[in-house]
Amino acid sequence: MFPAESLLREVFGFDAFRPGQAGIVAAVAAGENVLAIMPTGGGKSLCFQLPALMRGGVTVVISPLIALMRDQVRALREAGVEAGALTSGNTGEESEAVHAALEAGRLKLLYMAPERLASGGAVAMLRRIGVGLIAVDEAHCVSQWGHDFRPDYLRIGELRRALGVPLAAFTATADAETREEIVDKLFGGGAPRVFLRGFDRPNIHLAFAVKDGPRRQMLDFAGARRGLAGIVYCATRAKTETLGRALREDGHAACHYHGAMEAGARRDVEARFAREDGLIVVATVAFGMGIDKPDIRWVAHADLPKSIESYYQEIGRAGRDGAPAEALTLFGPEDIRLRRSQIDEGLAPPERRAADHGRLNALLGLAEALGCRRQALLAYFGESAPPCGHCDLCDSPAERFDATDAVRKALSAALRTGERFGAGHLIDILTGTATDKVRARGHDELPTFGVGGEFDRRQWQAVFRQMMGRDLMRPDPDRHGALRMTDAARPILRGEAAIELRRDSIRKADRRPAVRALVSEDDAPLLSALKARRRALAEAARVPAYVIFADRTLIEMAETRPGTLDAMARINGVGAKKLERYGALFLEVIAGAVEPVHPARRKLAGRDAGLLYDRLLEAQAGLVRGADGGGKPLSCSASQLARVAQLRPGDARGLERLLGDRRAERFGAAFLEVLRGADQGGPGIAPTAGIAPAKRMRR
Ligand code: ADP
Ligand code: ZN
Repeated sequence: MFPAESLLREVFGFDAFRPGQAGIVAAVAAGENVLAIMPTGGGKSLCFQLPALMRGGVTVVISPLIALMRDQVRALREAGVEAGALTSGNTGEESEAVHAALEAGRLKLLYMAPERLASGGAVAMLRRIGVGLIAVDEAHCVSQWGHDFRPDYLRIGELRRALGVPLAAFTATADAETREEIVDKLFGGGAPRVFLRGFDRPNIHLAFAVKDGPRRQMLDFAGARRGLAGIVYCATRAKTETLGRALREDGHAACHYHGAMEAGARRDVEARFAREDGLIVVATVAFGMGIDKPDIRWVAHADLPKSIESYYQEIGRAGRDGAPAEALTLFGPEDIRLRRSQIDEGLAPPERRAADHGRLNALLGLAEALGCRRQALLAYFGESAPPCGHCDLCDSPAERFDATDAVRKALSAALRTGERFGAGHLIDILTGTATDKVRARGHDELPTFGVGGEFDRRQWQAVFRQMMGRDLMRPDPDRHGALRMTDAARPILRGEAAIELRRDSIRKADRRPAVRALVSEDDAPLLSALKARRRALAEAARVPAYVIFADRTLIEMAETRPGTLDAMARINGVGAKKLERYGALFLEVIAGAVEPVHPARRKLAGRDAGLLYDRLLEAQAGLVRGADGGGKPLSCSASQLARVAQLRPGDARGLERLLGDRRAERFGAAFLEVLRGADQGGPGIAPTAGIAPAKRMRR
């Protein structure tokens, strides 16, 4: 076995390289200059972490985000690798420990924020300690055009020259301009070996939907994925707050995030998101680069993103662990207008604006695609692929129709009115609706007046939206909302080209999305028990859950149910160190297949109060939404239940003191009944179904 592969297994606990990793690892380990472009979630970090272990000296990792560095350092240490970070977020003690490890020659990876490079002392220090490799994460931050530009990244080129060591740069941003800039700024123009990894993220299910009661659509989507971590991207800050509230009112754990929030509040959301299991963050694109949580199960766009690159980057945050994930994007004509005007009113030079319109067009083309979405998405990145079978259009193919005639009528209505009106007025003309505005302008005299009887208003709106999506018409930035014909439409108008549009995209989106599960129904209880164990360990160690084990690893455990430590070691993601640290703890969960146990419940293990607790929990489960099932979700905390079980209040007033009036009102009667039953049944009450015997829980 090659050393890289045995390290992969022993240290990282992975069975095999992900596509592309092996080549990059080999090149970086051999000391070549490398630029690797890999999609988000492709597993970039491993491509410098593993070579760092194979090469002599320290590998300096430049990364733009403190939180991200800290997470990686923690994960490396968990895997038994000596790593440290020097950032402004360090305590004095932490920095001292890192320096001590460096001086002792123990450290293999040193993470640094680019700002550190500004001080001459840092460079001198790096010279002294013997750096063997520079790794640059998020290398596109060196691009002045990008919205992630970090001026201090421009110092990395200098550092490379000063140290005279190889450099490996990593990014998920693909476009050719950015690539050139990276080569220029980081490698001084000297050609690195470029690895361009495939862009497909096959585990993400792709879907778009036309807005049709968008708030309801969002709530339905989230509702069908209760308890799974997700991000909802919105176009405005205000909307993150209102939608966040709506989700909370619908019983979700949700919070909002945008750039105008205080740094502290933003950090809180980031930390919660990393740690909690099923939190939804409703955010603007400000919630982005720092998020490397691998088990985000879905990303939804409540509004259309600004370009196909942004779309790709944003949905790419879902399912980095490779387990099933979903993306849904809502869009409507207002979104198209908003995004166009943002480009037109922006400060970019004209050629940049034209390119931005092009990128938006590509996204709209994807939104209005007639065939497989993934095929369309990959085609944009220059990859060809067969239909994927894992997108909304593969699930239920679009109904198309020859819309040449309709499109020509619409274009003609616009041209005959001087391209000075928006879709609403043009639809009035086409459908022969003689509004005051139509009459006042004499548009009821036009030959186009009333020629569009084949469609109703709604359908014409869908036609106009699709025409905008195909860039046959564009809102004129100088004339508010007016639609202008583009050159792309000319052949259709002249009868030289035909065009198909989607007929079904105007159908009401009234089907409730099906709930997708990560594992089969049989394995689901075990998976949630494994997750609970993981959460408890993560909380105790104050690390994000995935640092203990990735979702994928837990899924594999739930599905294969290893019965011995040897079998456990064969699970993907269980390296030697983790096996030693956690193997037995998770085996115990699997062997006993216990339900998730709250610490408050665990304290009662083996006692009557424990069984009573289980009964109370069961009684509560039936009433979470009230006796009639229509109330706001309400439940008691585990410690409240534990107190009731221990103190056994005999009447409603006693319960109210323990639970407060709202909870006492909802659960009081049922709880009292349970308590009375227990008094009669005495200590011998039987455990309820589905709850493991208490002896299994003792540890
Ligand atoms: P990105 O390319 O977005 O930086 P990461 O380096 O964060 O991706 O990796 C994404 C996830 O994939 C992480 O959870 C990581 O542990 C996992 N991963 C990386 N390489 C492998 C592999 N060879 N086998 C299984 N999982 C892997
Ligand atoms: Zn498809």
